[in-house]
Amino acid sequence: MSLSYQSTRGGEAGVTASQAILKGLADDGGLFMPTTIPALDVPVERLAGMTYQETAYEVMKLFLTDFTEEELKGCIEKAYDSKFDTEEIAPLAKADGAYFLELYHGSTIAFKDMALSILPHLMTTAAKKNHVDQEIVILTATSGDTGKAAMAGFADVPGTRIIVFYPKDGVSKVQELQMRTQKGENTSVVAIHGNFDDAQTGVKKIFADKDLAAELADRGFQFSSANSINIGRLVPQIVYYVYAYAKLFENGEIEKDETINVTVPTGNFGNILAAYFAKRMGLPIKTLICASNDNKVLYDFFTTGTYDRKREFILTNSPSMDILISSNLERLIYLSAGCDASVSAALMRELSENGSYTVTDEMRRFMEDFVGGYADQKQNADTIRRIFKDTGYLVDTHTGVAAAVYYDYANRTGDTAKTVIASTASPFKFSRSVMEAVQGADETGAMDEFAVVDALSSLSGVPVPQAVEEIRTAPVRHNLECDVDRMKDTVKGILKI
Ligand SMILES: *Cc1c(COP(=O)(O)O)cnc(C)c1O
Repeated sequence: MSLSYQSTRGGEAGVTASQAILKGLADDGGLFMPTTIPALDVPVERLAGMTYQETAYEVMKLFLTDFTEEELKGCIEKAYDSKFDTEEIAPLAKADGAYFLELYHGSTIAFKDMALSILPHLMTTAAKKNHVDQEIVILTATSGDTGKAAMAGFADVPGTRIIVFYPKDGVSKVQELQMRTQKGENTSVVAIHGNFDDAQTGVKKIFADKDLAAELADRGFQFSSANSINIGRLVPQIVYYVYAYAKLFENGEIEKDETINVTVPTGNFGNILAAYFAKRMGLPIKTLICASNDNKVLYDFFTTGTYDRKREFILTNSPSMDILISSNLERLIYLSAGCDASVSAALMRELSENGSYTVTDEMRRFMEDFVGGYADQKQNADTIRRIFKDTGYLVDTHTGVAAAVYYDYANRTGDTAKTVIASTASPFKFSRSVMEAVQGADETGAMDEFAVVDALSSLSGVPVPQAVEEIRTAPVRHNLECDVDRMKDTVKGILKI
């Protein structure tokens, strides 16, 4: 059966999966959504015996219905290979009364690798299927992890270019070095003088610029996106929730059909939305606990029904969650409005014009499976330190937020359902903050970045990951910077048009 995609703002419908992946964002600025969410048609007993790659095929084939079996399996094989440092791809670690789903075993040691190792293959396959002969220019705004993971995926892929914008002072030192040392003739990295929301809004504006698109087409280019607004990011992210559930069952941690909770450290609302899709496909997930840091727009939204981005943007030590405009929430809004695109389009207009919107009570009831929570930097650090002291298990600052929110939720509600916590980055990616959490700032204050990395390794007994070793000596290749209002000109400069 073939599934088609439509825009959350009503301007486009009847789009195939491969076309939706190629476009990234719909022409009306909306996000592509499948007309229905397909049901998982494999019983858990069978899923339990499957590899990650086999699970990926069972899930993704239901959404990417215009890909042939051979095409999709080819993409999966190329994506989930020895770039990951474990054959399990996404191992589950049982620690401290929860199950940490480690999504950071890919080449850039953050969860973005889960989708971005496959997106370039999906996109080049989609280009072939649709007879696109233009060069695809991937424009990406990053809060630190997407940029590197996307470049790692697209570097030197024929027929593609990639341009990444990151907030100059809004990423960790390791994240910045990872990006600025990126190889590949088709990669460009630009530091913008602004925050992540400025970068994301700037990129969306460039996408919506019809004149620029025409100019580009003349020169043989077309834009696409590697951000989580691309449905080709969302679909691969559903896989690991299905896989985790099957592993819990296989390992005898849960009974058949037992419901579990999922806690996700959230920024752009992509990862947790994938968990929600898994639930809607039939996976027995009860509550989706949406964890925020001090930029707690989503917590406020789930507790009041009002989304309000008019507030101070706070730079925290979980920078990949420093976001005030969570783009993928639009997809949930659309579903909660009974897929009435006129409702989601109107609310998104309100958001861009007035900075806030309020959903109806009926829409709020639709979202009852979501519970919002947040942890400030102190709660985050206390949680990281406590888990490490109690169990020897070390989590990064994003996973720390999720863990803090989960324990608070469990204490507050008495909900004892088994819980999977999405562990979104290696602690080494945020070595300084993690060391500060565990030992206090005095110890690490004067140390350089790599001394901190080494100290973290000896403290935890975990070897320094290859992704961090690499950047110790790699030459910096990217030095571009620009103001927020110069992003379009910068893109034109890079493409020489
Ligand atoms: C991107 C990211 C997040 C947030 O994920 P969303 O899908 O944007 O909600 C959380 N933690 C880390 C480490 C990330 O890189």
